[in-house]
Amino acid sequence: MRYLSTRGAAAELPFGDVLLEGLATDGGLYLPDRWPSLPAVAAGARYADSAAEIMWPFVEGSIERGEFARIVTEAYATFDPPEGSLGDVVPVVDLGEGLWLAELYWGPTLAFKDVALQLVGRLFDYELGRRGDHVTIVGATSGDTGSAAIDACRDRRNVDIFILHPAGRTSEVQRRQMTTVDAPNVFNLAIEGTFDDCQDIVKALFADEAFRRTQRLSAVNSINWARVMAQIVYYATSAAEVRAAVGAAADSPVRFSVPTGNFGNIFAGYAAMRMGLEVAELLVASNVNDILTRFFTTGTMEIRGVTPTLSPSMDIQVSSNLERLLFEMMGRRGGELAESMQRFRAEGTVSVEPERLAWLSERFSADRIDDDECIEVMGRYHRERGVLLDPHSAVGVGVAERHRRDGDHPTICLGTAHPAKFPDAVEAATGTRPPLPAHLGDLYERPERYDTLPADVDAVRQYVAANTAG
Ligand SMILES: *Cc1c(COP(=O)(O)O)cnc(C)c1O
Repeated sequence: MRYLSTRGAAAELPFGDVLLEGLATDGGLYLPDRWPSLPAVAAGARYADSAAEIMWPFVEGSIERGEFARIVTEAYATFDPPEGSLGDVVPVVDLGEGLWLAELYWGPTLAFKDVALQLVGRLFDYELGRRGDHVTIVGATSGDTGSAAIDACRDRRNVDIFILHPAGRTSEVQRRQMTTVDAPNVFNLAIEGTFDDCQDIVKALFADEAFRRTQRLSAVNSINWARVMAQIVYYATSAAEVRAAVGAAADSPVRFSVPTGNFGNIFAGYAAMRMGLEVAELLVASNVNDILTRFFTTGTMEIRGVTPTLSPSMDIQVSSNLERLLFEMMGRRGGELAESMQRFRAEGTVSVEPERLAWLSERFSADRIDDDECIEVMGRYHRERGVLLDPHSAVGVGVAERHRRDGDHPTICLGTAHPAKFPDAVEAATGTRPPLPAHLGDLYERPERYDTLPADVDAVRQYVAANTAG
């Protein structure tokens, strides 16, 4: 398998290079040169076994098969869903009236990003070790992504990780999930400033070519193909579990409702569809930051400001992974896509022709719900069914309800965060404060490790240089 860039001007690369590089040299995102077929996935199969088999064609040639299976098994051994769940890593739960919840949040940091990052951290370490190389990962977080990245990289021999968070501006759960990780290669920096200050510092470090080269700076951001690849798996496994549970045939269609931010999660659903999974429809669920809803319903993409909501991981201005779908929609013509992206950057708006909007509508529907509706959904599912939903998952469920039709296919809503990750919003909506799962039960007693630095690029640069193994 080779990988090509969505902008059409970068060299085709094998998996190992795509993994470590992330973004292509022409500014594009990597995609496999063809879509392989999904193997048959049985309900009740071990998740790690299905995962190794589904992903194998994407990595073949870059890693030995037994080694890959071993890494996949180790990555998913970190997941710990409740006893008796339907699924050993990503359980499905019946929400009633044709809706199901796929709980992607039983990993170490209680959010769906663990599914991809637990694997990608290990693949990074493997590939770097094979090359005798080492990288320094630097990133900024407002809370959510940082903890998943730290947990994925902790104790990896060939990686150091530095995560900047705005001092005093993340929730206590989120800060503690990062700062209580006791590993010699993990560095938490509380920056005396805002999240934007943190991001600006990271950008400045990456823009410093000499520093970037000597420190081997790297990122594991959501445009990395390997993250999308890992997410394809649970579309196939959750469809198999739900079909078996309702007594439907192995090829009968299901729908998915996906709380969407950067479009990485739902693009994996599209990939699964291209690989042969019978998907009747993918629902793009948004909060009031609804650039995607507007794009999928009108064909025009237009940037507006970002409004903070109860579902902060979906508070986006532009979804970076959408570029992959546009490339597919354009029949994989990279030159044409590069032109559109340029126009979009320059003018802040771009439109697609009616035939292309029709292509999108055959596969996707999109909708949004606001915070009041989100609170109503959380409250009602708790009251009527005893189910606690976090605000992100509730957006997906709310949109799925609105698009439900009589005699419909089962709809699998992706649960992207454990309710205990957003305890204040959940308590406000339901009157119940969700407890942390057992493995995090002592989070508030664990010692924290972080250093506080001013919002100053030089201070951070010196700190990183002084603390890296290289
Ligand atoms: C990251 C995240 C999302 C959005 O996922 P994308 O892949 O960016 O679309 C939704 N919910 C939660 C809880 C997240 O952490």
